[in-house]
Amino acid sequence: MKTLVYSAKDFEIPYLEKANCKKHEFTFLEASLSSESAVKAIGYEAVSISSSGKASTIVIEKLKDFGVKYITLRAVGHDNVNLKAANTFGIKVANVPAYSPCAIAEHAVGLLLTLNRKLIEANKRAKSFNFNLNNLIGFDLNNKTIGIVGTGKIGAIMTKIMHGFGCELLGYDIVENEELIKKYGMQYQSLEALCKKADIISLHVPLNSETHHLIDEDLIDKMKPGVVIINTARGAVLNTEDVIKGLRSGIIGALGIDVYEKERGLFFTNHSNDIITDEMIIKLNAMPNVLITGHQAFLTEEALTNIAETTIYNLDCWSKNRETENELTKTVTETV
Ligand code: NAD
Repeated sequence: MKTLVYSAKDFEIPYLEKANCKKHEFTFLEASLSSESAVKAIGYEAVSISSSGKASTIVIEKLKDFGVKYITLRAVGHDNVNLKAANTFGIKVANVPAYSPCAIAEHAVGLLLTLNRKLIEANKRAKSFNFNLNNLIGFDLNNKTIGIVGTGKIGAIMTKIMHGFGCELLGYDIVENEELIKKYGMQYQSLEALCKKADIISLHVPLNSETHHLIDEDLIDKMKPGVVIINTARGAVLNTEDVIKGLRSGIIGALGIDVYEKERGLFFTNHSNDIITDEMIIKLNAMPNVLITGHQAFLTEEALTNIAETTIYNLDCWSKNRETENELTKTVTETV
């Protein structure tokens, strides 16, 4: 199938080529899918996009006019695709529902440990042979309470890992996972109760109209002073302005984020020679207790291999006029 691969980055092209075995005719494009770049899809039956692309109603309408029949997402989260519009215009959309939940959960733990044990500052000092230990004090994770918000595939792995550290586990989800209750003593709570009790809060819910700005000033004001918040889900699950206030007041002791509310157009690209005008990211970057990575939690060999293989599988199914079980347009949920 003739496929235009948007947001194709050097690091993932070899994985896609290997999984493809020259079955589908790929064109790799560095630009993300947008209203401007949609025109590039003329003559292609399918497009593949990442989380940086935006398939809004207008973009989907354009793709339909250009003859595109399929969109395959190289991601789990699909908040960037208007599935209702895709259904209306008869474009099938599929994602990669679980490429490696371990990759994401392990990155979340990496952010937590790096912040808590002040590893970046420690290493900066060591590089200049400064082995002074002042201001590098962290806390034991053992016996601390962690709140896992969203206990699906990634949240479940996070639960298992944090249980290994000896943490008390609180969960919040619209669906309770019985296995986590039995195996790890997970206690499900209201979000408010979780926020009041947790020393650490890790977010693993998808972004939708219910989770948009789920963590806001109201909840932050109820949190334990010094709470550590980790977000590897989607940026807009946090109200970033409110989080900045919480960091400034000291309620939030540290923040680790792999995703950011305004990451589109900023992440996945080198802006080191640009003048950055986004005030929120400037404020966050200026704080020593904030650790930011640029949406790289998925960046492991295993995850990239699974993403590539599932992307090819989705295209294989469509090229044989078969359904893929990864199709999202069959069960359309509300997107923001
Ligand atoms: P999942 O579907 O297995 O789990 C999501 C959980 O959230 C489910 O248990 C669901 O019931 C719960 N949930 C949904 N809406 C909710 C609500 N309104 N309130 C409370 N709980 C709610 O998904 P997953 O594989 O665990 O992935 C979670 C999210 O992580 C994805 O949607 C994606 O946005 C993000 N993600 C980020 C990266 C990254 O590189 N940083 C990579 C993969 C996924």
